[in-house]
Amino acid sequence: MTAPNTLAIGPYPEPDRSLLASELGAIFAASPTEAGLLPEPLRAGVRAVAYRGHLPFGGADMDRLPGLQLIANYGVGYDSIDVAAATARSIRVTNTPDVLSDDVADLAVGLLLTQGRQMRQGDDLVRSGRWSAGQDLPLNRKVSGGRAGILGLGRIGREIADRLAAFKMDIHYWARSEKPTPGWTWHADPVSLAGAVDYLVVALVGGEGTRNMVSREVLAALGPRGILINISRGSTVDEGALLEALETGAIAGAGLDVFWNEPRIDPRFLTLENVALQPHQGSGTVETRADMARLQRDNIAALLAGAPLLTPVN
Ligand code: NAP
Repeated sequence: MTAPNTLAIGPYPEPDRSLLASELGAIFAASPTEAGLLPEPLRAGVRAVAYRGHLPFGGADMDRLPGLQLIANYGVGYDSIDVAAATARSIRVTNTPDVLSDDVADLAVGLLLTQGRQMRQGDDLVRSGRWSAGQDLPLNRKVSGGRAGILGLGRIGREIADRLAAFKMDIHYWARSEKPTPGWTWHADPVSLAGAVDYLVVALVGGEGTRNMVSREVLAALGPRGILINISRGSTVDEGALLEALETGAIAGAGLDVFWNEPRIDPRFLTLENVALQPHQGSGTVETRADMARLQRDNIAALLAGAPLLTPVN
């Protein structure tokens, strides 16, 4: 029997695990470290890695798989994979763009509405019995017609902007260059964008190039009526500055799906009334996760068949 040529690294729920095994004959490892501990004959046979998770996957991990030709990431964000190290070893990388953009944009808009209309506080009021005892929710703020800023107008950012435009919002954005839009306002830097809007939605890639792009200065420009929404990566926000801004009222609130050090997030978030917290569930629907897993497997099948990769990164 020939050695399996696909190694799935990371936590794979059913039915993805069974499909990786039945379609590709995959073997499994929980982490890059565990993959490196597999017997040498198994590691030598691996041509493709199906990668899932946020643990770093670097050059040393790749070197333990000497026949590796492809790392197929489960997810559009591939900042945990050292792509430069992969390219230097002639290893291709793929991701799962587009299929998840709707879900992530839906969650961003949901967080924006939750924070704008104080829905968490409303829910608390009803459940606690304070409403039935006569207390009303203080009037909150009108979201439709407000000013929204998108930091990173890529695939997901554009889906968010399209949704917010349907809320009659005035759309502003920052990207590295101006883009064709239906009249949205481009800003040359993130501080200028934050200063022009009530809601700042972060849809950047993660990684070194965008680290702490939502800085103390950006939060100061967003101001005491400003609400920050982050569905990108925790690394894009200076989290110390964000916590301070939330604690002091320098900004009004935040809706967050991603954090530094998730899932063991800074406990200061848990005591704040003005945040809505989500467990990095942007793409977490049954339908979209199945599409992502399918695209990951199709990229591996393409490599093994000698066909062009569907969604290459490098
Ligand atoms: P995308 O189409 O590549 O858009 C990324 C945006 O980031 C673009 O606006 C791009 O700017 C900007 N960008 C890229 N590299 C940059 C750099 N070095 N410096 C500054 N800006 C940079 O990606 P996408 O499909 O929209 O996905 C965006 C991110 O969302 C993913 O990378 C991932 O981290 C995150 N995500 C989160 C979830 C979740 O569960 N919460 C799910 C899926 C994805 P330009 O327009 O100038 O190129």
